Amino acid sequence: MADILYKYKSSVYANITNKCNCRCTFCIRFLKDGIGDADTLWHQQNPTKEEVVEAIRNFDFTGFDELIFCGYGEPTCALDILLEAAKTAKEKGLKTRLNSNGLGNVENGRNIVPELAKVIDSVSISLNAPDSDKYNEVTRPQVDGAFEKMIDFAKKCKEQIGNVKWSIVDVLPADEIEQCKRLSNETGIELRIRHFS
Ligand code: SF4
Repeated sequence: MADILYKYKSSVYANITNKCNCRCTFCIRFLKDGIGDADTLWHQQNPTKEEVVEAIRNFDFTGFDELIFCGYGEPTCALDILLEAAKTAKEKGLKTRLNSNGLGNVENGRNIVPELAKVIDSVSISLNAPDSDKYNEVTRPQVDGAFEKMIDFAKKCKEQIGNVKWSIVDVLPADEIEQCKRLSNETGIELRIRHFS
């Protein structure tokens, strides 16, 4: 089975599903099988809730204080597992972070933020682009109106979870980065500009 938990740089990550509702042009899944200390992150069969919970219970988190839910798929595409896994991590005294494409509400057909707020301490959402057309080009979402729905999800997370960031990479053209900064200022959602590596 592919690794459910893996260490990368100074953090521990949970890989709970391969499912995703985007097909981003830059997605690491199309480039390599694993990162950090994980040989492969492609689940031949997605793990069950019980398997994920057991992996968290048994993992030695010595030296780490946070569990990050992130890739190889979109964690909110396995919401039931995400919520139970985050609850288990909290019971172990860990902080929890969700790295998301921000399409969890549309994926699940309801506002999931109140459920997330009970077990998730911070959220990082991939903004990727400053407007709908560019967003669709880069992320190739499988839902309509994805950009607007991602923005709405981020605003709801800001209201109910508080610690929310958008992220972009510094390969975007300067004018697009400026547009993203304006969006960040308008919404009060911090923008993290990651160096592309
Ligand atoms: S949202 Fe994440 S997992 Fe899904 S295709 Fe994009 S980069 Fe890959």
